[in-house]
Amino acid sequence: MAESKIFYPSSLGELLRIYGDYPQASLWAGGTAIAREQGGRHRFTLPEIIIHLSQVTELQRISRTERYFELGAGVPINKILKVGKHVLPKVFTHALHHIGHPAVRNLAGLGGNLCHAPRRLNTFGPLTILDAKVELRRAGKSRWLPVARLFNRTGELQLAEGEILSRVRIPFESWNMQFFQKIGDPFLKPKTSLTFSAISDVRKAEITDFRIAFSFIGKSMLRDRELETLISGKRVPLSEKVRSEARELFRASLMELPGEVTLFQKQRALRLLQWYLSALHDPQRD
Ligand SMILES: Cc1cc2nc3c(=O)[nH]c(=O)nc-3n(C[C@H](O)[C@H](O)[C@H](O)COP(=O)(O)OP(=O)(O)OC[C@H]3O[C@@H](n4cnc5c(N)ncnc54)[C@H](O)[C@@H]3O)c2cc1C
Repeated sequence: MAESKIFYPSSLGELLRIYGDYPQASLWAGGTAIAREQGGRHRFTLPEIIIHLSQVTELQRISRTERYFELGAGVPINKILKVGKHVLPKVFTHALHHIGHPAVRNLAGLGGNLCHAPRRLNTFGPLTILDAKVELRRAGKSRWLPVARLFNRTGELQLAEGEILSRVRIPFESWNMQFFQKIGDPFLKPKTSLTFSAISDVRKAEITDFRIAFSFIGKSMLRDRELETLISGKRVPLSEKVRSEARELFRASLMELPGEVTLFQKQRALRLLQWYLSALHDPQRD
């Protein structure tokens, strides 16, 4: 078996230069999603050319302003949880807590969680509804994209040749109801697994903001804007009429999903949504 060529850049500039010279190289952050994808079913195979991101100082940075929190793509999940425990939105930190086990979370980073092309993993849904943005860098260029646009409609990763994800920016806003649920194992049971992310703001019994996203662990994600519009502005508890309208809208959106999403996953999503709608309340009045 041929040996792999491995680069260990220590700065972003060096990384982008190497990636520019070897655009066919595989980026390796913690390597946990890459390893999990191979599943231990056969001998682990390393890509021919690897660019290891762990030594790149800029990718390990965390910063904060009054308006947002910024996380380098390579900051380990456990470090994000430690530093951001009291300030990051709960829907996001819950998603991080549900990535593998503590040893995995010591190695794994956000860049790998978002850019793992075969699956929309834990943080994709929460960061989408939080309106988070990602910074993409390549030699001499930088651009910002909403997380939702990191993949196109057919699920292809929108990174140009030689481009990497460098930072994730999460805006601070206040929601008084946040929920994240992962069901199943995204790698071992992709046909039954899903994640559900929801944020709502309920003030004086009125829902002033309502956002939800389901990811179906393959390449499919569903954020139903029509449903969000229907629910926003309504009063809690939601009437049976509104819940039934919401159910029908959501059922129609589920029907439009690509074939890789199974009937089982769709039924699970519908049940979760129904439960969430009936659980909506005003936390300030409890
Ligand atoms: C036992 C186990 C259980 C797991 N369970 C879960 C789970 O339940 N939910 C979940 O979400 N994940 C799970 N994972 C997968 C994984 O741990 C996480 O998704 C993790 O966040 C991936 O980060 P990483 O740094 O290890 O990425 P890597 O594995 O290094 O990279 C993943 C992909 O992203 C690309 N990439 C990495 N960084 C960048 C970047 N900066 N720019 C562009 N592309 C990049 C890589 O080239 C690769 O294609 C599990 C892993 C293991 C081993």
